[in-house]
Amino acid sequence: MSEIQGLAVHAAGAQLLPYKFDPGDLQPNEVEIRISHCGVCHSDIHLIDNDWGVSKYPFIPGHEIVGTVIAVGGDVRSLSVGQRVGVGWQADSCGICEWCRQGDEHLCAQSQPTCIGRNGGYADKVRVSSRFAIPVPGVLESENVAPLLCGGITVYSPLRNHGVRPSSRVGVIGIGGLGHMGIQFARAFGAEVTAFSTSKDKEKEAKELGAHHFVNTRDTGALKKVAGSFDFLLSTVSADQDWNAYLTALRPKGTLCVVGVPPSGIQVQAFPLIAGQRAISGSPTGSPRDLHEMLDVAARHNVKAITERFAMAKANDAVARVKKNQVRYRAVLAN
Ligand code: NAP
Ligand code: ZN
Repeated sequence: MSEIQGLAVHAAGAQLLPYKFDPGDLQPNEVEIRISHCGVCHSDIHLIDNDWGVSKYPFIPGHEIVGTVIAVGGDVRSLSVGQRVGVGWQADSCGICEWCRQGDEHLCAQSQPTCIGRNGGYADKVRVSSRFAIPVPGVLESENVAPLLCGGITVYSPLRNHGVRPSSRVGVIGIGGLGHMGIQFARAFGAEVTAFSTSKDKEKEAKELGAHHFVNTRDTGALKKVAGSFDFLLSTVSADQDWNAYLTALRPKGTLCVVGVPPSGIQVQAFPLIAGQRAISGSPTGSPRDLHEMLDVAARHNVKAITERFAMAKANDAVARVKKNQVRYRAVLAN
């Protein structure tokens, strides 16, 4: 019998407890990965707390995984034992719908998230469909690359898909796990980058990461001062914001793209949208194709997560620090 050992949450908001389970036979399309590192994404916190009403307990959180392939199913041709791979939000998809066929597996209606209805990366091992285990370029350190597998792709994809380029004026709202990688990628796309933060002590590091400007959103009138300034605003914040003020901060034809999940959704007036021909959009992680591309871009442009390392057994401490917005900038659990 094979056995996977990890840390599971058994009820909404509860502490993680040691947990083991028998994953059964390895399926022909699956790989088994020995986990070296797993990032702590704020989506894990939402799932632990059942903020989205989709959590199924008990479950092992974790979907920013790096490790080594230790077993491959009989049909797997693309990976071999010993290879270093990363796994993000998605562990499987149907493989045959129109979205899967065109390389947009992240839009598949049968998409299987790595830690909803499955067990994720706060563990010694994980199993996923081989299509969702992405080889990691050799120059990237496992600890710094793990957060790219969810947080990184979630900021990379919208910058890419909205055509951000050297003429673009981009704002990244919320400089946490996603946001600090968003600054780096926006800079790699050549944009003029502004960081929006509630933490004024992040200004120096935001600028070292590539931001040209820093807006302390706790300053009264800070958003009014930048009205009409941005082509693309990427919000990574998991809290409610003055969305009308951000819409007004866009230039004509600008887009506010939401990747963070605020509890009350996005409330806006119609006129700033209509008058400036502005748009609001959302973006979910990204496809395996985009993960390959993003890791390659990260390797060539030196994009990496700034991490705080915790031993896997100390995952509860990491979760507590994420909840208090104390992490600079991504907690990573190490086996
Ligand atoms: P995180 O590391 O906790 O960072 C979030 C940042 O938002 C904080 O560092 C903080 O930045 C800012 N913030 C927190 N509370 C705030 C408040 N009350 N008001 C204003 N700003 C606040 O979280 P993360 O891992 O980056 O994830 C962020 C969000 O993205 C979560 O909701 C997560 O579920 C979501 N997410 C979505 C996807 C997707 O596919 N769309 C993928 C991954 C994550 P400052 O200190 O700079 O203000
Ligand atoms: Zn995530």
